[in-house]
Amino acid sequence: SHSPYLQLLAESGVTLDKNQAEAVTETNGSLLVLAGAGSGKTRVLTARTAYLLKFKGSDPRSIMLVTFTSKAAAEIKNRLLSYPEIKRDQVYQLVTGTFHSIFYRILMFHDGANWANEKLLKKEWQRDKILKEAGKERDISEKEFAYDAALQQIGYWKNSLMMPQDIKPLTDWDENVLFLYKKYEEYKQNNGLFDFDDMLLGCYQLLSNSADILDYYQDRFQYFLIDEFQDINKVQYELMKLLSGKHQNVCAVGDDDQAIYSFRGSDPGYLLDFEKDFPSAKVITLEQNYRSAHEIVTAANQMIASNKNRRPKRMKAQFSSGNSPVVFFSYDEEEEATMIVTDIQERILNGANPSEFAILYRTNAGSRAVFERLASSNLPFKVDQDTESFYDRYIVRCALSFLKVSLNEDDAGCMSDILPILFLKQAMLREIKALSILKDCSFLEALTHLNTTHAFQEKKLKKAVPAIRSLKSLSPVKAIEKIEKKIGYLDFLKKRGNESNQVDKGSDDLKDLKVAAKGFNTIEELLAHAEHMSAMNQEIKKLSKHFTDAITLSTIHRAKGLEYKIVYLLGAVDGSLPHDFALESSRNGDFSEIEEERRLFYVAMTRARDELLISVPENRRGKTAACSRFLRPLLTKTKKANFQ
Ligand code: ATP
Ligand code: MG
Repeated sequence: SHSPYLQLLAESGVTLDKNQAEAVTETNGSLLVLAGAGSGKTRVLTARTAYLLKFKGSDPRSIMLVTFTSKAAAEIKNRLLSYPEIKRDQVYQLVTGTFHSIFYRILMFHDGANWANEKLLKKEWQRDKILKEAGKERDISEKEFAYDAALQQIGYWKNSLMMPQDIKPLTDWDENVLFLYKKYEEYKQNNGLFDFDDMLLGCYQLLSNSADILDYYQDRFQYFLIDEFQDINKVQYELMKLLSGKHQNVCAVGDDDQAIYSFRGSDPGYLLDFEKDFPSAKVITLEQNYRSAHEIVTAANQMIASNKNRRPKRMKAQFSSGNSPVVFFSYDEEEEATMIVTDIQERILNGANPSEFAILYRTNAGSRAVFERLASSNLPFKVDQDTESFYDRYIVRCALSFLKVSLNEDDAGCMSDILPILFLKQAMLREIKALSILKDCSFLEALTHLNTTHAFQEKKLKKAVPAIRSLKSLSPVKAIEKIEKKIGYLDFLKKRGNESNQVDKGSDDLKDLKVAAKGFNTIEELLAHAEHMSAMNQEIKKLSKHFTDAITLSTIHRAKGLEYKIVYLLGAVDGSLPHDFALESSRNGDFSEIEEERRLFYVAMTRARDELLISVPENRRGKTAACSRFLRPLLTKTKKANFQ
């Protein structure tokens, strides 16, 4: 039954095993491919597309191929271009991209005026501003209310197709967020604006409300191919179900062990219950891992087997043996970064290409030290377009603003950063400027002359002003400690409730900042360094687009679906991976977040082809850290066999 096209593919280097070949050629009706990491799911999708084009002679415009990122779509198109007998225009005529990009194009086509690009709320701060404005109506405090979390909650509701009228608030928090949700939608409506979530919702409404349009697309799209199906959310799923209504030909590929976006409303249930909505679907599993060294596959299998909520699956390694994963220890984040960058440097000197390396981490903040080490080396590296410099993070930036005001008491920009922290309204800045002229004093000094505030606040300011002034004579670490306690930054952050539940134990960002500050003698040095790093971040981001031969710096989330010869995983300690908030909820008996963190660990491990190096710093954020609970069973069980 082997089609001549598969033969051709194999000859050009794209071999397929028996199960893969079946998944490629089984094109009558829906198909679910459920398989572990590195088993060739994406290869199957690509080959299936080629097979449809070439062997079945399908119109490329009748094929919708959905990927999780636009980078992945570009990658698949590139692959296709190199496949035998596939023509350029065929590839360009495919309907491919992320759900967002595909459905946005449909909206633009039918209603371009209302969905023009300039009406898109691209940036988080734009959405944030709308919420804060709305919050004023209800006296929802700008400082004490976690607007970023509210924004995330609203996105979650929208992606779950929950309209304001569907939501029954149970808590004050829900009540407030629901209010903001309504206002936010109203505001967008009144001003003709839309956000990313609206691209999906808008398309869902368009198709639900217009039988003609739905009919057209149902006829047109004969084949759906969807990668990373474990991270599909409700609105995406419903859209796909709607559109595939006529031809009922959906090929979904995914791995429930790699579901890592539940905080955004993704639900692996759609993958696991696929057969409920597509009862005639065929299910194919792939069991061979073609990506990683044997020992890496074994360790990853072992790790993920501890999750209770999963479909057990077999994953065999194809290579008989390779390098065992290595766990290495360092004193802290700084030494961790130095060790990794030195190691890479050595390997590159010995002939390795920088593109072979990826450094993965749990959160962007966790990449600071590595970024700094790489920035001061000559090694080429790239970062995601949306990574902000550690020093530009809101909490860090405001801490630095205190230091800057201490050096220059007339720095208006920094004054405006610190006003909220001193519990003063932003609007006070004008008054402060006026007072400084009237009293012939600095902006900082003018704070002590403000008399519009309560006596209690006056007293606080009288204390804060000399404290701020004294910062410049302290070591950077001592200065940050003074900002935290004496000046009351931690109190402010606690009230704001913005950082995770850990604020009682201090602010994570400020702890990171203190670790970073340890290397500097004066605050001028620290500030110069921060400025330099922030500029470097901009620079590297610009260059990243054009870099091919570069080391990859990425969050684990962003590395999904990708592979690298050598992978370094940073910060394999409790609190980082698993993240603190997951540990917290497990203490309350909810293990779903811990399981998601374990899946993240699994995703990280399975990105590696030849070598996986897991880093366990003994101290993190200035405190002793425990080796990740996910790693511990592996360390004891396979002590000498798998790990040095
Ligand atoms: P992930 O779950 O991480 O997205 P995946 O299942 O999509 O992984 P692919 O990325 O498609 O896996 O494949 C993993 C690697 O194995 C790729 O380098 C791919 O080229 C290679 N590969 C896949 N199938 C085969 C095969 N039959 N023979 C040789 N190499 C293969
Ligand atoms: Mg894949």
